[in-house]
Amino acid sequence: MCCFLTNQELKEAFQAQFDVVGIIHTKRYLDEAKRMVKKIPQVDYPTMVVVGLNYPMRLIKHTKTHLIPSFYTFGSDYHTVLKNRIKRVMDQMPFLYELGVDNHPHDERLAATLSGVGYFGKNQLIINEFFGTYIFLGIVFIDVSLEEELILEISDDCGTCRKCIDACPTNALFEGGYEVEKCMSHFNQSKRALSEEEIDANYLLFGCDICQMVCPKNIKKKTTLHPEFELSGKEMVSIVDLFADSEKEFKEKYKDMSYLWKGKTILMRNALTILHKQKNTLYNDLIEKSIEKHQTTWYHNTALKILEKLKTK
Ligand code: SF4
Ligand code: SF4
Repeated sequence: MCCFLTNQELKEAFQAQFDVVGIIHTKRYLDEAKRMVKKIPQVDYPTMVVVGLNYPMRLIKHTKTHLIPSFYTFGSDYHTVLKNRIKRVMDQMPFLYELGVDNHPHDERLAATLSGVGYFGKNQLIINEFFGTYIFLGIVFIDVSLEEELILEISDDCGTCRKCIDACPTNALFEGGYEVEKCMSHFNQSKRALSEEEIDANYLLFGCDICQMVCPKNIKKKTTLHPEFELSGKEMVSIVDLFADSEKEFKEKYKDMSYLWKGKTILMRNALTILHKQKNTLYNDLIEKSIEKHQTTWYHNTALKILEKLKTK
């Protein structure tokens, strides 16, 4: 492949690595972002590719010794997986490019809707015709001009359904919007003390799956288990490791897991909320020691509050 590229060639190159591929002119994305008064940086590369990689829905239950995060974290960290796959495609091409997966200043969901990768659901997720909400998104800006765009067709929407709104345990969703601060997946990834309501609502070590699991658009969809997302055993997090290991030891054992991106302390705080629900007092001594060791105020406050409740069980 030299310095000329058709959108068909580009599409096929990405399709070798991804389940869904949409290709648009970057200008379309920038114009729409500007129209919506979104603050995003200028991009000089004329072509934008939006990629989606499917992951399976798998349920694993908490036990008295191991706790479970949201199933989107199962297998290797999707940030690394998508970046590696994008690099594999772009390494075959002579063009400059910039990529983004999740933590970047661009709006992946806007790009996904513009390129037809999916529509924006009431659960605030991109819903793809074949894979429902179970796709990880990534974007690539490429320094090549294509005459045509490759926009996938979308003829779908949520219609009158409101199952996710009704099922959301924290009332974060409503018709036409979302209150991010109320969302469990947001607050259980935030470094702060949890309120009583948040302690009662939280049910996972990391994230929240409810508005995906109730969505009818996820029923009878295609599932692909990409090798990087095979279970590794690290989906089940040992409670002893959480409270007894140092940050370094824990990261060494659980490396490559996306739930680690904000560090171990938020996992410990979230674990406490589950131990509270389980009325699981087996780890009270370890929790007590963790409170002495961790002087982080937000952890300290939540942990003391929950330990007190556990001691009365
Ligand atoms: S992730 Fe959970 S808390 Fe957040 S909107 Fe969905 S159901 Fe509600
Ligand atoms: S549950 Fe219903 S309203 Fe919510 S995203 Fe799915 S289809 Fe849309």
